[in-house]
Amino acid sequence: MDYQEIIQKQRHFFNTNVTKDIPFRVKELKRLKSVIRKNEDLLYNAIYNDFKKSKYETYVTELSIIYHEIDLALVKIKKWSRKKRVSTSLANTPGKSYIIPEPYGTVLVMGAWNYPYQLSLVPVIAAITAGCTIILKPSEIPHQSAAALSNIINKSFDPCFFRVIEGGIKETTALLKVKFDKIFFTGSTPVGKIVYQAAAKHLTPVTLELGGKSPAIITKDVNIDMTAKRLVWAKFLNTGQTCIAPDYILVESEIKQAFLAALKKHIDLQDYKIENQNYTQIVNKKNFDRLVDYIDPIKVYHGGDYNIEDRIIHPTILTDVTLSDNVMQEEIFGPILPVLSFDSIEEAIADIKTLSKPLSCYVFTKNKKVKNKILKEVSFGGGAVNDAVMHFMEQNLPFGGVGDSGIGKYHGKAGFETFSHYKSILQKSFLLELNLKYSPYTSTKLKWLKRLIE
Ligand code: NAD
Repeated sequence: MDYQEIIQKQRHFFNTNVTKDIPFRVKELKRLKSVIRKNEDLLYNAIYNDFKKSKYETYVTELSIIYHEIDLALVKIKKWSRKKRVSTSLANTPGKSYIIPEPYGTVLVMGAWNYPYQLSLVPVIAAITAGCTIILKPSEIPHQSAAALSNIINKSFDPCFFRVIEGGIKETTALLKVKFDKIFFTGSTPVGKIVYQAAAKHLTPVTLELGGKSPAIITKDVNIDMTAKRLVWAKFLNTGQTCIAPDYILVESEIKQAFLAALKKHIDLQDYKIENQNYTQIVNKKNFDRLVDYIDPIKVYHGGDYNIEDRIIHPTILTDVTLSDNVMQEEIFGPILPVLSFDSIEEAIADIKTLSKPLSCYVFTKNKKVKNKILKEVSFGGGAVNDAVMHFMEQNLPFGGVGDSGIGKYHGKAGFETFSHYKSILQKSFLLELNLKYSPYTSTKLKWLKRLIE
């Protein structure tokens, strides 16, 4: 496969400077919103056919987020694109200094399968707002959703500006051989490393939105019922196939039994079923088999049953789990929740630190000292205190990982910054020129120079 031609055309279009005009970017953002609005039914049907994701969850966790990002960009685009004045040193007086954001150029956005619309389009919105031209490669796993996106985008946008290319490993490998000006990747840590290596060959900057094992730590002073209710929602949303889902729980031993009972109560109350619009299928057989392997029957506190034909695994709580169990070796990414316990906060922090830096961390506590200790001592992408997953909705909170969970941030202004290079300019005047920096270098000049600089 040769993608050179389409990417060349995008470069050519970028070099016309059209995408740098704010009215052009505004027009394209509005076009994207209207294309999605007009095709909502097509998008709902495709994702339902892929993994039975309901209209309700698709709206709440995909389309509404896309609409909000577009609306925010439309309000803020002028402000974000403005050059920013900064102060100038005495050595360059008279003069002024400023920073101009400029779009990187032709960019590649690669999406993951678990939120196929939102994870593809939110970075695209940021790239349009910054003034880039875009190739989008959605995940091939939810193939009907990828086809729906490709279909509606490719017939509505000039391919020289924005084009969707479908495909799997073969197509992505070919795409990654081409030089882009920026690559934005969402997916697993191992594939993130492949993308990073390919980008390094061209010195292309990357944003890598990866995964990891996100813990939730619960101390004995919490409101147990509300904590369990919030965690059950956060974990079983999209059937646990969420990069920031609480992967495992660390609960203070004293309240462990009460907390387990509260988890069970809220799972039962939610009545997770596809027809209740609150549960999806496991995306494919490969993931289904991987998840079922984690269910050790002697450790099941609740759930543990599954149905291969429908690719359904019921919400499952595992207890008496240790760090050496299989389920603690990699990101779960499904509806299985291991509950571990701790006797001191130091012990809980040490447990978290045996694993790679997570994408998220959730602290449930009323104890300010404990909260501050965890926020100070544990490194993670972002998170919440006394809630889980909801931080993703906050457009003013840059979203991204650290270490194995990713490089770079997006959402709102952070997304604009991700697709922009900030060009620093010193502008001098012709009014005056001191001779201090010119030779002959004398001791008197050095004395004055030191006075000016120090
Ligand atoms: P993945 O890494 O398998 O796939 C992501 C993308 O990479 C897809 O477009 C896929 O086609 C492509 N790809 C897969 N294998 C490739 C290869 N060998 N060479 C080149 N390209 C390849 O990830 P996934 O299964 O789609 O998503 C699950 C992972 O993504 C989880 O680890 C999850 O935590 C993470 N994730 C992170 C975020 C975030 O915002 N940080 C969001 C969602 C998912």
